[in-house]
Amino acid sequence: MRRETIAIHGGFREDPVTKAVAVPIYQTASYAFDSADHGAALFNLEVDGFRYTRIGNPTNAVLEDRVAALEGGIGALSVACGQAAVNYAVINIAEMGTNIVSVPQLYGTTHTLFAHILPRQGITVRFSEDDRPASVEKLIDGDTRAVFCESVGNPAGNVCDVAAMAEVAHSHGVPLIVDNTVATPILLRPIEYGADVVVESLTKFMGGHGTTLGGIIVDGGKFPWAAQGRRFAMMSEPEKSYHGLVFTERYGAAAYIARCRAVSMRNSGAILAPVNAFLLLQGIETVALRVERHVENGEKVARFLRDDRRVAWVNYAGFHDSPYYTLTQKYLGGRACSLLTFGVAGGFEAGKRFYDALKLCKRLVNIGDAKSLACHPASTTHRQMSAEEQNKAGVRPEMIRLSVGIEHIDDIVTDLDQALNAAN
Ligand SMILES: *Cc1c(COP(=O)(O)O)cnc(C)c1O
Repeated sequence: MRRETIAIHGGFREDPVTKAVAVPIYQTASYAFDSADHGAALFNLEVDGFRYTRIGNPTNAVLEDRVAALEGGIGALSVACGQAAVNYAVINIAEMGTNIVSVPQLYGTTHTLFAHILPRQGITVRFSEDDRPASVEKLIDGDTRAVFCESVGNPAGNVCDVAAMAEVAHSHGVPLIVDNTVATPILLRPIEYGADVVVESLTKFMGGHGTTLGGIIVDGGKFPWAAQGRRFAMMSEPEKSYHGLVFTERYGAAAYIARCRAVSMRNSGAILAPVNAFLLLQGIETVALRVERHVENGEKVARFLRDDRRVAWVNYAGFHDSPYYTLTQKYLGGRACSLLTFGVAGGFEAGKRFYDALKLCKRLVNIGDAKSLACHPASTTHRQMSAEEQNKAGVRPEMIRLSVGIEHIDDIVTDLDQALNAAN
């Protein structure tokens, strides 16, 4: 099936008992065993089935299968939000005394997790100078457990060279983890370019309506965990927290996502509520259509801003003179994301006047809603960073980030126009 069809049908067949066509919400904590032996077999992961919703739920399973199919992976784990997905994706393979290497252009909270939280747990995060694969490669050593990047950075709007990044990681025996939140699998499937693990915040374009938090981890199923000696011992040697199970032996290609569920999720429990899985599934049904309109409106807004003397600069990967133009052609089929940044002429104070004058566009810290959204990263999402860290992450003091929605383009432009007048 094509992505437009998977988004609507993936992972679900009409319910055999009730014939329900919509995915039922299984609002249950637990599932009955046929017998003591059946319960034991479930706990030993010897048979498939559900035990307790912290480990799996049938509604969540539809979401997991649907997004895995959209991304071209072999399995997925849904979690409470995108941040939980990033955290689990890393701690599933990194532990005290090891490191990961990350590009610097990251979502603000991911940067905080990497710079301040993981190091306290003994996992060092090495930030490369920029997003060039060669800069990342310099920092990889024998203790590295993964390379991390965002396919399209939020808010920087940079487009990573995923194939080259995967090649660098693989040549050193480590997997590539890609946050695909901004691009969505409608515009880009990182696994097709060599990524091993994909994480997404489903809160954004996938859910698409700004109502529901959710996250997902997708396993590409190709990384040879057992072939790296003891580097991924948690995958290829007996797991103490699961009475000696060896994940690569039991699950083969799906070892990573099986461990993520059975170890990370089971023991620290950032589960996605089944009702939220249902709401996200409703959003995902229209993701292909919405992304198409987001892309179209994003381009029109970028052109409007660029031709305007009240605007100092516009950062939009769809412009020929953008440093990311070529990568946008290669990875996004020329469809630059509707996330763009610009500076209002007149600096910080003019930027603030512009921001306060917006009427249709909401002032908030979200992206990927049907509604047009505006954010001032320096005072919100990225305020915990030093000026130097902000600069490396692609954040400037006067910068406004727009997530262009799917309203009528004329109404969006009218709002931006009146706010630019107010700024002047
Ligand atoms: C929003 C976002 C996250 C975090 O997702 P939540 O669902 O808010 O926890 C992670 N990465 C990127 C790129 C994001 O935009």
